[in-house]
Amino acid sequence: MAEIDREKESKEILEAYEGLLSAAKHAKTDGATQERMRTAFYVAVEAHKNDRRKSGEPYIFHPIAVARICAEEIGLGATSIICALLHDTVEDTEITLEDIQEQFGEQEALIIDGLTKISGVVDNNVSIQAENFRKILLTLSEDVRVILIKIADRLHNMRTIGSMRRDKQLKIASETLFLYAPMAHRLGLHSIKLELEDLSLKCQHPEVFEEIQVKLKKTQEVRARFIRKFTSPIKDELERKGLKFEVKGRSKSIYSIWNKMTTKNIPFEEVYDLFAIRIIIDSLSEGEEKSDCWQVYSVVTDFYQPNIERLRDWISAPKTNGYESLHTTVMSPTGKWVEVQIRTRRMDDIAEKGFAAHWKYKEGGVESQFDKWINQVRELLENSDESTLDLIGDFKLNLFTDEIYVFTPNGDMKSLPTGASALDFAFTVHTQVGVNCLGAKVNNKLVPLSHQLNSGDQVEILTSKNQTPKEDWLNFVQTHRAKSKIKHSLNEEKRKVAKEGKVILEREFKKLKISYENISLKELQSFYKVPSDIELYYEIAINKIDLTKLKEFEVRKGVLRPKRKITKRVQNLFGQKKSLVPVTQKMGRPVLVIGDNMEKLDYQLANCCNPIPGNEVYGFITVTEGIKVHKTSCPNTVQLMSNYAYRIIKASWIDEQDAAFLTGLKIIGIDDVGIVNGITQIISNEHNVNMRSLSFDSLDGVFEGRVMVLVQDTSHLTNLIKNLKGVSGVKKIEQIDK
Ligand code: MN
Repeated sequence: MAEIDREKESKEILEAYEGLLSAAKHAKTDGATQERMRTAFYVAVEAHKNDRRKSGEPYIFHPIAVARICAEEIGLGATSIICALLHDTVEDTEITLEDIQEQFGEQEALIIDGLTKISGVVDNNVSIQAENFRKILLTLSEDVRVILIKIADRLHNMRTIGSMRRDKQLKIASETLFLYAPMAHRLGLHSIKLELEDLSLKCQHPEVFEEIQVKLKKTQEVRARFIRKFTSPIKDELERKGLKFEVKGRSKSIYSIWNKMTTKNIPFEEVYDLFAIRIIIDSLSEGEEKSDCWQVYSVVTDFYQPNIERLRDWISAPKTNGYESLHTTVMSPTGKWVEVQIRTRRMDDIAEKGFAAHWKYKEGGVESQFDKWINQVRELLENSDESTLDLIGDFKLNLFTDEIYVFTPNGDMKSLPTGASALDFAFTVHTQVGVNCLGAKVNNKLVPLSHQLNSGDQVEILTSKNQTPKEDWLNFVQTHRAKSKIKHSLNEEKRKVAKEGKVILEREFKKLKISYENISLKELQSFYKVPSDIELYYEIAINKIDLTKLKEFEVRKGVLRPKRKITKRVQNLFGQKKSLVPVTQKMGRPVLVIGDNMEKLDYQLANCCNPIPGNEVYGFITVTEGIKVHKTSCPNTVQLMSNYAYRIIKASWIDEQDAAFLTGLKIIGIDDVGIVNGITQIISNEHNVNMRSLSFDSLDGVFEGRVMVLVQDTSHLTNLIKNLKGVSGVKKIEQIDK
């Protein structure tokens, strides 16, 4: 092993720190703050003095680099820099949160606590799990700096991922794509988002990454020439108008090219929008920005024909992440569509650095759009009683997809996720408006509730006091807000009706002279195959449940008749004319149901996580092996969900009895001493079949048996029939209803 040159190392560490300080010049720091920063540096150096990174270098280089990213690339201030320097101390060293609070203050301790929680959640080598995602979002809503520092941390880890073990690399990369890149995007950290995506792709598919990189390089010269030629008349004209500006030809990121190639299934050569042209104007004042941008638009479209459908005005209506820009796509003389992005220097800064750049332009801190977003996150988390898997879906849908902007009749603007319906809009106006929504007028035309809205639509909601939410509304609403309000209201409605059902049930038991208190509601639920007591009462009230079957329930419960053992009984039966044997049902063996309709489909349990009954699971539709069932906490979950969300299918364990259906078999054969034994043995050996009753007739040497069985699906039944045919003496088997 090479000797470590400590002296050289300390020199390098100090240099790194000085690099950080010069990158942090923008942070208005007084002497005291500088002192605190230095203290943070020394505390971190001391704490990590024995730690080394996988690459072999002293650990302290990592927190310094993270702090530098915070300062230089995100534009954060002193508090964040201090926290970034200390971000791994509480997690990995002797230093405690109390130490931090004492030495640096409450805010710092809070942020580091948040960071420690997240790393406990994410870096814990099991990779991120659905529940952890939620935790991260909760932390996010406490102090956004936590997540910004975490993104910086992740960025540095991705930049230095080469020295990690391959399996860890892949996990970190998929997590980055699934969580950190969208988060960075949402926070408006555009260049960091692009870099995270590119680094992840490079790690996951190095050959693909390299191939695209090489092709981009090869075509660079041609592109540059094209851009020069294309922009030259525009430049001349803008100069003539006396505008100060900069023109850039920017190629798309490798990740987004790859994304386009895979989603559209086209080769590199067919990706037509490899680059965009950006015109950045140095406006004299903020008041002139908008008209400057439109002036440039006017010049551009004087030379080239625009595609009106692809005009995007994010200046009049900025995106929630703060993005402002004017995008147009115009036809070049060579017959190629070219995207032109027009924005001012301020807008460009915000687009690149995002949220943090706002500080530079807006006194008093966080922009209101951003506040709004944080509130949305909070609302989402607080109202959620759904499974985390659903939550992630909703969350990604609501917060990571692009938005549309629609207007109220008064001209107020509301933003909604792409694909939102008129009903979603109604719920954003007010819960009561949503609940009573009858229909809508979009741009003065009457449309159904499910009508999908487009940007720019003006929407008027029609309501009626008599309207109440319907079950099928859930099929087309997109926003989490609408969904949870509808569900809530449906439950309310159900509860009301259910009350009547309970009265009916109590009356029925009275008729049977059974005290209601002695009944196990749980057993009654599984008897009627309903998931909850509310559902039970509700279905009784709407006459969906047949109460005449209650007697049967009592028989099965053994209240009216004693339980009997099947084998003995069968022996005694032999030779008798006819009899019915009640069979005690084994309760509650869990089985897996899949999809929204809770069907019993064929599946395999994934080898990577070996789910067992009771685990929270989901199905994944594989290309060649059908449905594979994974635990939600499976290490592959992140990768599967992030790359193949559309192949994920719901799955859950329910009691076997709930899924089984009752069917009968008529068995005809030659009367023989062994035949009953043979039949019962086959049935009890069949794992997925439960016997409900048996009866036998024996007449003149001809044996006729009737068996009622609970099976889970036809394949089990077919199998049972096949095996029964093997019993000696059995001649014929028919499926019967009763
Ligand atoms: Mn770290």
